[in-house]
Amino acid sequence: MPNAKLTISIDLELGWGNWDNITPFHIHNIESKEHLIIERLLEIFDRYGITVTWAFVAALLDEDSARSMPGSKSLWYAPEIIDKIRKSNMPHDLGSHGGKHKYFDSMSKNEAIEDIQFAAYIHSKNGMHLNSFVYPRNKVGRIDLIAEQGIKVYRGQDLAWHQTIRNKQALLGRAANLLDKLLPISPQAVSPELKKDICNIPGSMLFFSRNGIRKLAHPKITLNKLHKGILNAINNDGVFHLWFHPSNFWTNTDQQFEIFETFIKQASTYIENEQLEVSSMAGFSSNEH
Ligand SMILES: [Zn+2]
Repeated sequence: MPNAKLTISIDLELGWGNWDNITPFHIHNIESKEHLIIERLLEIFDRYGITVTWAFVAALLDEDSARSMPGSKSLWYAPEIIDKIRKSNMPHDLGSHGGKHKYFDSMSKNEAIEDIQFAAYIHSKNGMHLNSFVYPRNKVGRIDLIAEQGIKVYRGQDLAWHQTIRNKQALLGRAANLLDKLLPISPQAVSPELKKDICNIPGSMLFFSRNGIRKLAHPKITLNKLHKGILNAINNDGVFHLWFHPSNFWTNTDQQFEIFETFIKQASTYIENEQLEVSSMAGFSSNEH
């Protein structure tokens, strides 16, 4: 069995991803595109036999939570989407992206407990195992509390050169992030890090939106980076952990899907050759340590 792994995690949030700064742009795109994008992703995963982690905001399955939010209910409450994922041919890992997309680095301990308990309650009420956790805005914090709720794996911050700069200096970090998107710089392979009874599987690369200045990133360069991500995982017995939100497909949707499917097709040839294996985040909870 190959040691190299491809892990894909998707942050599923609809309006909750921008509950604190939602704009007409978000509303328009969520209402007109989000469902279709999720369907197209599920079709690709079925076509190539890929299992991924869908980390969803728990409130999407709680009608009461939608009542206090602005705009149409469908921005905040979407049980039909979770249903579609559960009914797809490939068995996916349904993880959590927090109770209501609150930020774990700035919440009080009690707020964090309340949020994570709400997420755990929604998972269990709907008969789902909660193994994987993706921090809203990747704001990692209160790891002990999420472990207490039985979460086994979380996605840590990207292991990337531009992230290291960003952690020290926000503005320079943004410039570095843009440069990284424009140049064929190779994403890093990551390794699972076990801390007590919870495992961190950091991100390697964001499948980024092609909007604004990022339109300058040539699709061939993005494909080249994605390919290097696979090769790095193979050469280092590591994990290429790609992540994104459905919103990363809002702009130039067809082009984004063309890039994504080309990458998945390429990954599937390495899988067929037994050089690469697919693992959801939950896959790291049982057999890695
Ligand atoms: Zn999010």
